[in-house]
Order: sequence, then structure tokens, then C-alpha cells
Amino acid sequence: MVEVAGKPKNAGAVDAGAVRAKYRQERDKRIRADGLAQYVQMTGSFERYLDDPWAARIEREPVSDEVEVALIGGGFAGLIVGARLREAGVRDIRIIDKAADFGGTWYWNRYPGAACDTESYIYMPFLEETGYIPKEKYAKAPEIFAHCRRIATHYDLYRNALLQTRVTELRWDDDAQMWIISTDRNDRFRSKFVCVAIGPLSYPKLPGIPGIETFKGHSFHASRWDYAYTGGNSYGNLTRLLDKSVAIIGTGATAIQCVPQVGASAGRLFVFQRTPSTIGVRDNRPTDPAWARSLEPGWQKLRMENFSTIQDGGTVEENLVDDGFTELSWRALQWRRAHGSEVGSEAMASALEQIDLERMEELRGRVEAVVKDPRTAEALKPYYRYFCKRPGFSDEYLQTFNRPNVVLVDTNGRGVERITEHEVVANGTAYAVDCIIFASGFEWGTALERRAGFPIFGRGGGSLSDRWRDGIRTYFGMHAHGFPNCFILNKEQVGLRANMPHTFHIQSQHVSYVVQYAQQNGVMVLDASEQAEEEWVQHVLDSSHITREYLESCTPSRDNNEGHPNDRLSRQNGYYDPGVMAYAALLEDWRRDGTLAGLDIRR
Ligand code: NDP
Repeated sequence: MVEVAGKPKNAGAVDAGAVRAKYRQERDKRIRADGLAQYVQMTGSFERYLDDPWAARIEREPVSDEVEVALIGGGFAGLIVGARLREAGVRDIRIIDKAADFGGTWYWNRYPGAACDTESYIYMPFLEETGYIPKEKYAKAPEIFAHCRRIATHYDLYRNALLQTRVTELRWDDDAQMWIISTDRNDRFRSKFVCVAIGPLSYPKLPGIPGIETFKGHSFHASRWDYAYTGGNSYGNLTRLLDKSVAIIGTGATAIQCVPQVGASAGRLFVFQRTPSTIGVRDNRPTDPAWARSLEPGWQKLRMENFSTIQDGGTVEENLVDDGFTELSWRALQWRRAHGSEVGSEAMASALEQIDLERMEELRGRVEAVVKDPRTAEALKPYYRYFCKRPGFSDEYLQTFNRPNVVLVDTNGRGVERITEHEVVANGTAYAVDCIIFASGFEWGTALERRAGFPIFGRGGGSLSDRWRDGIRTYFGMHAHGFPNCFILNKEQVGLRANMPHTFHIQSQHVSYVVQYAQQNGVMVLDASEQAEEEWVQHVLDSSHITREYLESCTPSRDNNEGHPNDRLSRQNGYYDPGVMAYAALLEDWRRDGTLAGLDIRR
């Protein structure tokens, strides 16, 4: 049954100025001088947190051959590009991934309760092509992982793949006009094209809490769930936790999904909260077979476009997905319709703030309606603008705090103070625990090469990190001058909203077009010209409406550099603000033009 959200307060009656002041106060509490540096990289003694719990290592001989296209990463980005290349008739493809199978984030993240937060009908790629319909509106992790394998099989991507293989270096060989790819399996092979498809959230991070290394109990990162310790599986039933005291550190999207499962099984659960997430209604439901049968060819693309158009702030007649990611812009669209096209930007900004306020009041009202203990409820209320942090959704998370074995340890924005051999300390109180689960997220704002785990050396031997030292510089978010025949599929300078695979689909068309063009026209080397790169970076900056004022008003998050926004860099290293659909249109025009404008070509 769909749970009804807490009775919304009359947002009109709320004093916007007072709320703004409260947001500021909550934000100020959370600003730390160390910003991004508060997290520790998983190297040295922390490296064990990255071990693969899902597969034993299989030995193999090193590879030293040559391929046409090497895709680094077998998650959604690598799969989507690989599939498109196959559709375009490219035969010689190699996908390399450190995991033992395809799936990327869905290979690693098998924690109990894991599921997609973006509707599965738009999130899971190639549903029409593979003839698959997800079982639910929000598919669970095992189903999504199985679908990744389905795509890899359907498009014959297992052939020639190197799994359980970590790339250690990408180096452009100007004489051979090829990339040399080195790996931790002593492979050293060449590829004409490379595609860096490592995913924007693939490198787990740990909070640098004093004493973290001294803990003597059991601990793991949620993306490497230890079922041998907890019992159960991705659907829950963690029977081995019955007599355990467990700490979960973090209350983001991962925790929102695993807290209910751990809470249902553990003897005691302490959830350590620094900033509450928004918890919108999830309203998951089985796929209606009649609806699935009624779908016309091309439906998935149209549904993705409908979702992204709404998120972009565009105009559509219907909100097909109708979820918590589209809700705000959908309400804004209704407001624009009611007020006509002549409204000024100030009136629009003020309307958006009011819409945001209403939404946040509803969410705070929901907390109050669900959580029985008033102090816990108060601590779970989020005070910031809706998109200052990635929204969360659940119909079980808030309810879990009504369980007698579950304690919310709110740290009033300060975070965990210390970890000792057997305790987690917050607000001066020590909580004895057997196990700590770090739901502390993934690196996002750090350098691409650090997240990828390998350096990329381009023409003349210079590294990408050096080139990007003063800010990311790309052409279309995918090409970098001096790094020929290389496509970067990431989040910077590209049109991106909540449905990341949509962006990968758009980029895959570009990659497959360029590779085909090269094949059909005897092109050996393609490199973004410095001017094209310059112009794209300038366009990204000029078209950004993200203001320093807005970013500074937000509670610390990945989008404002943990509370330290840099005016120019936040825009330069951010998304292409006009949005997904504008990005798609721009690339489509570029292909239609057919001259490969901005790419220097060598035959
Ligand atoms: P997040 O980065 O969202 O959350 C990390 C949590 O750790 C935050 O609550 C953070 O608090 C907290 N934290 C950090 N340091 C400390 C500290 N010293 N003491 C206490 N708490 C601390 O990580 P997630 O893994 O939850 O999610 C990352 C992203 O991955 C999501 O935003 C989403 O994009 C994606 N994701 C998607 C899912 C889906 O679609 N189903 C599921 C899971 C993840 P604070 O907020 O104050 O920084």
C-alpha cells in the first residue's frame, strides 16, 4: 500500500526568511576547513576495504596483442558504448574491468536492500533491444546485475574482455599512433581507440575519523558487503547479526537502503548521522504486465527523454515517470504555465524557492508523521534546499527508527568524533560495537586519474592530471586536447541529470559515430583542437546558471566541494548546465554537419 506522506504544512504560511536563516545555520555547523581532505584514500592499510568479496582470483597469461577499441570499465558506460559499437559493426572491442564480471556499481554494490533510485524502465539500458522488462518500478540490485550480464551476452562483450584486471597505465605512442595499455596482470597491449568509462562513483572513500585504524572489531565498506559476517543476502535476512551491535556511519543513499535491513536483523543498530537525507516516498510496485504489453517500439527512449526534459526545465505534456527527481521541475513547469512566458527571472527564482520550500516542508512533515520519538524525528529533518544533496527515497528507512533495537546517533553536523578499539564515539558518548559498516560513499570531486587508479599520458608524455591542474578542459566533455583517439565518459562538462545512463546513451552515439567515421575514411588519429576545447570550456562556463550564492547557501556536499565552492571551478568542473537534451541536440547537430568540426584529423 502506498504510504501517504506526512500532512504537508501550509508552506505559504512558513516564513521563507526564517527558513533561509535556519538553512544557513545548519550549513554553517557543517563547514569544515579540511573540505574534501576529510576523507582518507583507500591505500596502505585501508586497501583491504577494496578487496573483491565476490570472486576468487583466476590466474591467466599476460596479453600483448592489439585491438581496435579498448573500453576501460564494464559498468553501464562501458556496456552502453560497447553495445553501440557492436551495433555499428565494430568487431574488435576489448572491455577491461577490475571486477570479475560486468556491472560496475552493480557488481560491487550488493548490500542488503540495494536497488535503483531512478525508475528501472529508464535506468536499465537496452530493455527493448534485449526484450527484458524489469520486475518492479525500482529494480533490486541482483536483477540489475543480471541485466548487465544480459547486455554483455547479447552484444557479445565477454569475447576478448579482460576481467579481474586493473589498468595501471594508459600511454599514447605517437610513433605507432596507438594507445599502450598496461595492467596489473602484466598485460601490455595496444589499442587504436580508448574509452575511459570508469563511472563517476566507483572509488569508495572512508571518513578520516581519528582512530579509524585502531578499531579491533569487524568493519567493511557497504560497497563490499561481508555476508560471511552478517549472513543473509541482498534481500536481507542478516541472521548472523542477531547477537551483534552494529554501527552504520553515513546516512546517504546507501544507508537509506541498508539501514532497514540491518535494523530488522541486528541485536542493536546505531546509525551515526552527520546530515539527514531527504526521504521521499518510494512507492515501489510490480510492473503491470498489461502496461508492459502496451508499450510501443521506441518507448524507452521517449520515456528517458520525457524524464530528462522535465529535469532540464523543459516543457512536456505529461510526467511519465512522476517521481521525486522530476517533482520539483514538474511543479515549476505548472507554475510557468499558470503565469505565462513573460515572467522575469526574479519572479521565477522566487517561485522556485517557494516550490522548494513546499517540498522540503512536506518531507519534514513526513518525518514527523512517521517517526514516533519527537527528538529522533527532529534530528531526521533535513534543512537545506532539495537538490543541495542527492535526494533519497524509502518507505522503510524512517520507520526503522521506531524499532526498539535501533538508535539514531545524531552528531549535530559534526560527524563521528573518534573510533577506538571497540567503540564509536560521538557527542562525547562512546558506543561499544562489534562491527562498523562504512556507508561513507565514493570519491566524486577528486582527479579522474586518482579515481580511475591509473595515470593517462598523452602526446609528448604529459599527464591528464597536469593538463587539468587548473580545471577540467574537454571538448564535449569527452575529448581532451593532446589525448588523441581517447574518449572520456564521465560527469564533467556533459549534460547530466538523475538518469546517468541517458547521458551514456548520448555519448555512446558520439563515440560510435567517430569510430565508424575513422574506419570508413582511413583516419588514424583524431584529436580535439585546442581552440575547440577552449570554446567548449567557455560555452560550459557561459551557459551555467549555477551561482556561487546558491552553492554557498547549500549544506556541504559533493556538488559544492564539501562546502567550499570555487566560483569558476564549480562551473567548469560541473555539468553542462543547459541539460541532457541540449547536450544531445548539440551532438546530433555536430554529427549532421558531418565535418568532425573541432577534431584535428591525421590519415
Ligand atoms: P554519500 O556520500 O551519499 O553518503 C556518505 C555519508 O557518510 C553521508 O551521510 C555523510 O555525511 C556521511 N559521513 C561522512 N563522513 C562522516 C563522518 N565523519 N561522520 C559521520 N558521517 C559521515 O554515500 P552513499 O554511498 O550513500 O551514496 C553515494 C552516491 O552513490 C549517491 O549520492 C548516489 O549518487 C549513488 N547511490 C545510488 C544509489 C541508488 O541509485 N540506488 C544507492 C546508493 C548510492 P554528510 O552528508 O554530512 O556528508
